[in-house]
Amino acid sequence: MRQNVTVLGATGSIGKSTLDVLARHADAFKVFALSANTQVDMLFEQCIQHQPTYAVMVDATCAAQLSDKLKQAGSAVEVLSGEQALIDIASDTEVDQVMAAIVGAAGLLPTLAAAKTGKRVLLANKEALVMSGQLFMQAVHDHGAELLPIDSEHNAIFQSLPLGYGQDPSYQQQIEKILLTASGGPFRGWQFDALSKVTPKQAVKHPNWSMGQKISVDSATLMNKGLELIEACWLFDVAPKQIEVVVHPESIIHSLVQYVDGSVICQMGNPDMRTPIAYGLAWPERIHSGVKPLNLFEVAQLNFETPDHQTFPALKLAAQAFETGGTAATVLNAANEIAVAGFLREQIAFTSISDLIDETLNACTIEAADSLEVILQADAWARRFVEERIQS
Ligand code: NAD
Ligand code: MG
Repeated sequence: MRQNVTVLGATGSIGKSTLDVLARHADAFKVFALSANTQVDMLFEQCIQHQPTYAVMVDATCAAQLSDKLKQAGSAVEVLSGEQALIDIASDTEVDQVMAAIVGAAGLLPTLAAAKTGKRVLLANKEALVMSGQLFMQAVHDHGAELLPIDSEHNAIFQSLPLGYGQDPSYQQQIEKILLTASGGPFRGWQFDALSKVTPKQAVKHPNWSMGQKISVDSATLMNKGLELIEACWLFDVAPKQIEVVVHPESIIHSLVQYVDGSVICQMGNPDMRTPIAYGLAWPERIHSGVKPLNLFEVAQLNFETPDHQTFPALKLAAQAFETGGTAATVLNAANEIAVAGFLREQIAFTSISDLIDETLNACTIEAADSLEVILQADAWARRFVEERIQS
């Protein structure tokens, strides 16, 4: 039986890589549904190639345009619109796997819906987990969902942990620490003062990975590593102090697990997201991903550095937010999304991103993050707070 797969955020960087892998294995997987925010033409092309049952565009006007184009092309793909439609394609009884690749908090409700209906959830959308960690992990547990990390570092950690980790608490005693690798982003080695003048174009130019704009800016501020630290704490049930961030500029080792006997296990490979995506889709088996084999002689050298917390305060802000608990990480994530959008519109300086997040965390009231209502309220409050700061 073929597995039915819904790809949320199909037109993004992760979405396109997912469809590339799926197209290589049409015998094993069927594309059940695709979604996009506003990119009509790209979603149209994807529908023609992959013939999903449903295509969802959040925007109603875009959905109408897509529907017209598909009808003219004689396609039977059914087009839906709105946020509820995203939830529907993530939780449909026919769906086996959901690739959660919408960027930011917009992905929370459909990703949570996939968890609540016991799907295999391929989690790229780290923001969903960061903003609702406790609730999300509880939903996965209560509804028997399979949560497989697609973020390359977390996928590497997952691959480096013993099978059954998570079910057997004794495994945790055997782990000394998790080494979370970071490329350092485009401004590695820069001084703080020089960063105040960098442009969005410079910030989105990542040295090793080709990614969406928001995560590229997050990689430049190191907030991406901050979000990933929180993501790792929830996924692997560890505290921030058990995780060490290691700057590894080549992005060949994707993270490591250090054990009490001195062994350090890691996963390596070329920086191409199709590897973790293929791993998630086929787990526990392995399938071809289209990724170029790693040539160690070409790589020749692997380097490691400690992160520069002075120049990149975002990493510490994230660790503190996780330690604070409750809605602090929700607020951190929302403040970051709005600040990054403000930077991309050239309304604030690069260095103001972390300043604004810090200010927002200092101003907010932290509450227990045990209901969706509380989480969505904290998210909305932080968005308004930062937007007002940007406009003033
Ligand atoms: P992207 O910007 O390239 O794509 C985002 C996708 O989400 C697009 O399909 C877009 O149409 C859709 N989208 C955007 N806003 C939406 C909204 N409000 N409602 C519904 N859909 C919306 O982003 P990306 O780089 O593919 O990243 C996606 C997620 O995966 C992010 O959470 C990111 O942190 C994570 N991730 C990405 C990479 C990578 O290599 N790109 C690696 C690890 C994790
Ligand atoms: Mg990552």
